[in-house]
Amino acid sequence: MTISRLQTKTMGALLLVMLIMMLVIGLSSMVLIRDFSVRSATEHTRTAAEMIRVSLTEAMINDTIDRRASMLRRLAEVNSLNEVRVIRGEQVIEQYGEGLAMETPADDIDRQVLETGQPYFGLMGGLLGEEFRATIPYIASSNEDINCMACHQAPEGAALGAVTLTASVDHMKTAGMATALFLVAIMGLFAILSIAFLKRMLRPLVETTQEIRQAASLASSGDFSQRVRSRSHDEIGQIAFHFNQMADAITHKLTEIRDHVAQLVNTVPDPKANLLQETASTVSGLVKVAQFKQAIEEDQTTEEVFFRLSEVLRTEFGLEHFSIYQVNQDKRLMETVIVDGVPHDEIRWCHPDILEQCTTCRAVRTGHAIDGLENPRLCRAFDQDALADGRSYLCLPIIQSGGVGSVVQLVVPPQNIPALTRSRPLISAYLREAAPVLQAKGLMASLRESSLKDAMTGLRNRRFLEEYSDSLVSQCKRRKMPMTLMMLDLDYFKTVNDTHGHDVGDQILRELAGIFQAHLRESDLVIRYGGEEFMVILLDTGAEAAMEVANKIREAVETHPFKVAGGDLYKTLSIGLAAYPDDAQAFWQVLKYADVALYAAKDNGRNQVVRFTPALWPPGGEY
Ligand code: GH3
Ligand code: MG
Ligand code: MG
Repeated sequence: MTISRLQTKTMGALLLVMLIMMLVIGLSSMVLIRDFSVRSATEHTRTAAEMIRVSLTEAMINDTIDRRASMLRRLAEVNSLNEVRVIRGEQVIEQYGEGLAMETPADDIDRQVLETGQPYFGLMGGLLGEEFRATIPYIASSNEDINCMACHQAPEGAALGAVTLTASVDHMKTAGMATALFLVAIMGLFAILSIAFLKRMLRPLVETTQEIRQAASLASSGDFSQRVRSRSHDEIGQIAFHFNQMADAITHKLTEIRDHVAQLVNTVPDPKANLLQETASTVSGLVKVAQFKQAIEEDQTTEEVFFRLSEVLRTEFGLEHFSIYQVNQDKRLMETVIVDGVPHDEIRWCHPDILEQCTTCRAVRTGHAIDGLENPRLCRAFDQDALADGRSYLCLPIIQSGGVGSVVQLVVPPQNIPALTRSRPLISAYLREAAPVLQAKGLMASLRESSLKDAMTGLRNRRFLEEYSDSLVSQCKRRKMPMTLMMLDLDYFKTVNDTHGHDVGDQILRELAGIFQAHLRESDLVIRYGGEEFMVILLDTGAEAAMEVANKIREAVETHPFKVAGGDLYKTLSIGLAAYPDDAQAFWQVLKYADVALYAAKDNGRNQVVRFTPALWPPGGEY
């Protein structure tokens, strides 16, 4: 029950008690007044009866008893007396006759009083009747003052007659009512004053508790702005004071935390926002950012990092449409990494030109975030159909090694713009964490790539072969497919160096690499094995088909004019060839056999292709 309800109930109970008391006092005062009226009227009527008896006796003595009727009429005119009647008893009637008509008993009370000799006093007409009636007997006595027996033939103690008097008690009733009303009014006034006083005394308690309740309920939802007015210096005032102190301390600390947290996500805190909820949601967002960072650090490739980022955009921020672009190492091309959550999907939200020339992308060119949420026409490369549909975009560049390494483009319909604006600081926090990780992973990947490549020709090197030979064999085993190895060596290359110089020799090696690639499929591997010696691995190709490829390459080299100072230079190529699994089950064995075949080609006069046969293997099996 609330304090104010308790107060109302207490007041109500008090009022009820007061009303009952007023009723009791009113009623009891009326009973008291009635008793008083009856007693006073009894006394008065007794006196009047005595006076009438004396007057009648005097009238008898003076022999004026015949005029008693007018005397009694005049008596009835006495103020407040309504009726005066004298009734004769039986002995008097027997002795003196019935007398006047009014002197016979009029009712049962008259008869009863004459019979019993006992007086009757009573109110006529209810609790507060308007008339008081007294019927008082005249008892025969022979005391010193008056000797009734002198005239009446009646025994001592007999009722000679009686007098009936009725008197108005109206004035008494009015006085009684006035007294009762006065008392009730006093009580009512007392009740009102008591309630007003109680209310005034309880007001600080009621109002303070109401305010504390309101403030506490707001605080439970994170709003600590409400303060409680301190109304008194007692415990209630102290409670209000301490509550305010507590709210101040919480607000101060939370504001401090919110400001620090806002700095972490590079936002300006909104002073009107709910302090607790805003801080809690930013902190939980930052915790997720930290978990994201930990996860991507343990990822192996940039692809994995981008995919995790895409999942965050979808699940944490509810974004359906977005693109992640990656700028290629040459800083000219750009490719889609993820589009709307699908890895390496077709470009969808920008003009395809940006893939060919990455500086067409405004975010890549400027290195700044491109906010199309307020001004969708800011970037002309944004898809025109999407623009016509009312979609907006926000493009956030990820800076790696001082330049834009990738761009995250978020695309939203108009109704989602406010949500994206709110999420933007946290999304940026994710990208800030991703940037160094992407840079490190990219660097690692390019380092690894370069360590497996021959710098001069751009072909794969011997280290690549060492790393991947096992997986090549297991791939062939798994798919049950053949693989043919070719060893290729320029004929008399030393003379090129000797005649035209080392640089020309390098130039010829580079051109040679181009000729190989032009005559091979994407899936074939070309390796610079060492010096002017090359190796080609033809996957899913048997020795027969490989012989054809080898001859085509040989012919292409033979007919290729290498441009050198002083004219065209023609060179020839010798090729040795061995097949997996036909010639051997082990990779390095096949390689050795191809080398054996190459030497056979050299021995046979060069500019030819030799397929390995067991006959080429020297006796004893050692080469
Ligand atoms: P053969 O027909 O027997 O293969 O004769 P060759 O002269 O081609 O063979 P040899 O092994 O005697 O000579 C290979 C030469 O290739 C030696 C070296 O000067 C040259 N060479 C190796 N690597 C490079 C390179 O990277 N650049 C240049 N310019 N020459 C290289
Ligand atoms: Mg050679
Ligand atoms: Mg050689």
